[in-house]
Amino acid sequence: MMEAPTKHSRFGKLVEEVRACTKCQRMCHSARVLNYSAGNLNAELFFIGEAPGRLGADETEVPFHGDASGRNFEDLLAFAGISRNDVFVTNAVLCNPKDTDGNNSTPTLAEAANCHPFLRRQIELVNPKIVAPLGNTALRALAGIEPHGFALSQHVRTIHPWFGRSLIPLYHPGQRAMIHRSFANQRSDYQFVAEQWRRLTQVRRTSSGATRADVMAVARYLLASRGAVTYFELHKLTYLTEYLHVRKSGRRLTSAYFIRQKDGPYCTDLEIDRIRRADGSIRVFKEEGKLCLRLGTDQTPEFFAKQTEISDEARAAADEAMQRYGDKNDSELKTAVYLTAPMRFLLRREQSAKSNLYNAPIDFLAAR
Ligand code: URA
Repeated sequence: MMEAPTKHSRFGKLVEEVRACTKCQRMCHSARVLNYSAGNLNAELFFIGEAPGRLGADETEVPFHGDASGRNFEDLLAFAGISRNDVFVTNAVLCNPKDTDGNNSTPTLAEAANCHPFLRRQIELVNPKIVAPLGNTALRALAGIEPHGFALSQHVRTIHPWFGRSLIPLYHPGQRAMIHRSFANQRSDYQFVAEQWRRLTQVRRTSSGATRADVMAVARYLLASRGAVTYFELHKLTYLTEYLHVRKSGRRLTSAYFIRQKDGPYCTDLEIDRIRRADGSIRVFKEEGKLCLRLGTDQTPEFFAKQTEISDEARAAADEAMQRYGDKNDSELKTAVYLTAPMRFLLRREQSAKSNLYNAPIDFLAAR
């Protein structure tokens, strides 16, 4: 029987199709801003902007990042206590439209319509509980997926059923829209969104705050093989396992979510409390000032006996990561991760955007 494609493989295919799209003539030379920087493929909260900004997403390839709109958006999220790691952020139109002087311009209705099928597929794939269009272009684009009668000025900060989920219209966070909706009002709008999000996802959030099984299987295998590892090593070796697998197969190994932090990739799924929730027997202790982890003492043989927990391909990638990098100290490990293609790709984007991309998601597939 053929296996159903995973979310990651479906997303990878969508990204490829977007890259190959040439429907809108004037955007042929703009970046196609759809990649893992959009955020969490399992997000319950889904934001849609207008189109990548010339000085922001078109450069950084991270939606709403690097320009004034991006800064406002990130401030509003932070104010409402929403982390980009938990949400998915995209645009109604995935490329930057420029006018004849090279400035940002609003996408035409025809250009937005060209992107409707991509937007619909993103929503269906992520399957969020709440969709929050930012501004008129995004709100109108949603009507192209399932007709609605909402108008921004009338329905801002209200919640309505739409397309099997909930819709909350919001204003665009760009400077121009502040004339219609002050920053103070927008802050309240994002607080409202956060409240609705917590209300709608409370049950699942409390029970799903544990490291996912596929990521945990790799982490447990690394711990079982190495005895004890530092928290730093666990994150870097998990990243390198994922990286080596993607390099070999062109596919993601796990659903692990990695972000760029100062000392390299950090796997948000391997946050200590999430690990503990997934496996209460894991021991966390300090040695020479470093946070370390090991499996419960009676668990190691049991783990090896349980052959089914880790797939053959995950085991092979983890073995290779340990063989290549297992004897490195922290500073050598840091150098090793910075030399991988996804990190180099991110650093190049930082250089062209002239800003750091701390906490930006790491896109393994874009960088191959
Ligand atoms: N950046 C985006 O990604 N989208 C916008 O709508 C504006 C800036």
